[in-house]
Amino acid sequence: MANKSPETEHPQKAFGWAARDNSGVLSPFNFSRRENGDEDVTIKIHFCGICHSDLHSLKNEWGFSRYPMVPGHEIVGIVTKLGSNVSKFKEGDRVGVGVMVGSCKSCDYCNQDLENYCPQMVFTYNATYIDGTRTYGGYSDMIVVDQRFVVRFPESMPFDAGAPLLCAGVTVYSPMKYYGMTEAGKHLGIVGLGGLGHVALKIGKAFGLKVTVISRSADKEIEAVERLGADAFLVSSDPLKIKAGFGTMDYIIDTVSAVHSLAPLLALLKPNGKLITLGLPDKPLELPIFPLVLGRKLVGGSDIGGMKETQEMLDFCAKHGITADVEVIPIDQVNVALDRLAKSDVRYRFVIDVANSMSK
Ligand code: NAP
Ligand code: ZN
Ligand code: ZN
Repeated sequence: MANKSPETEHPQKAFGWAARDNSGVLSPFNFSRRENGDEDVTIKIHFCGICHSDLHSLKNEWGFSRYPMVPGHEIVGIVTKLGSNVSKFKEGDRVGVGVMVGSCKSCDYCNQDLENYCPQMVFTYNATYIDGTRTYGGYSDMIVVDQRFVVRFPESMPFDAGAPLLCAGVTVYSPMKYYGMTEAGKHLGIVGLGGLGHVALKIGKAFGLKVTVISRSADKEIEAVERLGADAFLVSSDPLKIKAGFGTMDYIIDTVSAVHSLAPLLALLKPNGKLITLGLPDKPLELPIFPLVLGRKLVGGSDIGGMKETQEMLDFCAKHGITADVEVIPIDQVNVALDRLAKSDVRYRFVIDVANSMSK
């Protein structure tokens, strides 16, 4: 099976846009999807968000990319086919798929709804599925997914602005819950106002937190405060302002995608404060030990969230009217969008209008 071409290895024809090498440039790509099995849901994809992880992967910044690669793990669409064991969905349902499409389903992590920490977790793209074939993501017209990895998309939530929650939303929601960062009135700093950061800001406000954005981009200040609801904004290149914030924050969520200094962030925390790093730069960050030890501070990480928590997050966001701020693009603009994302030039998530622009 592994020797067959992407176009012939499975019975169902599929079409997407793929990168052929680490230039990361995407172009049209014919491939195939497996037949819908007993546990599977076939989904016609309507929208797919563009996460910075897509960019890291396309450019092989993490060193494990394989090509051709169809990225995309913020997928929303409509159910078109169901396996005989699938009862939680019906044809025509609005559904979502995030960063993973498989796991062992029997380890301690899977049994605790933490499939995201299962040693056999299968990424939605650039991974090997249980049947030995490659996974291809959501920059494509349809996908076949095991029902365990499909979530119900709230009726009240728009498809385009809701799609980014499938990765960005759960990635910031899960650590806030796990690390106990939801106590109303506490002070949360968010580093990097991009896809993850702006959703963290909205979710933080919904939990009743005081939220300060820490950003390199002074031009994001007005909308961060006036439109997104931030309580304060610190430009990271302004040492005086940063210094004035030292010792004021209970929690920090760091979403920066590149190597950067943790020293000022640890200084912004109060004693007992928590710094949760979510960004995935290609090189290690330096961890200053003195502020950590002297202030009993905690540095932690977190990887997306389990399927149950992804559903909980979507329902929470629907209840609080939270969606992403998106720039919707047709697929033929995807390479321009990726270039702009690399420069942090997006307000605040690109979403591909797959259903209306993906045709051969
Ligand atoms: P994004 O939209 O590009 O946002 C990242 C933000 O970080 C930028 O908007 C920018 O904000 C800031 N930034 C970028 N380069 C910087 C630099 N050199 N120095 C300081 N700040 C910089 O990306 P995203 O989609 O939110 O993803 C952010 C990171 O999280 C990526 O590394 C991604 O791979 C990772 N990620 C992790 C998980 C997980 O499960 N842990 C899930 C999804 C994504 P300002 O302009 O405001 O400074
Ligand atoms: Zn992502
Ligand atoms: Zn498992």
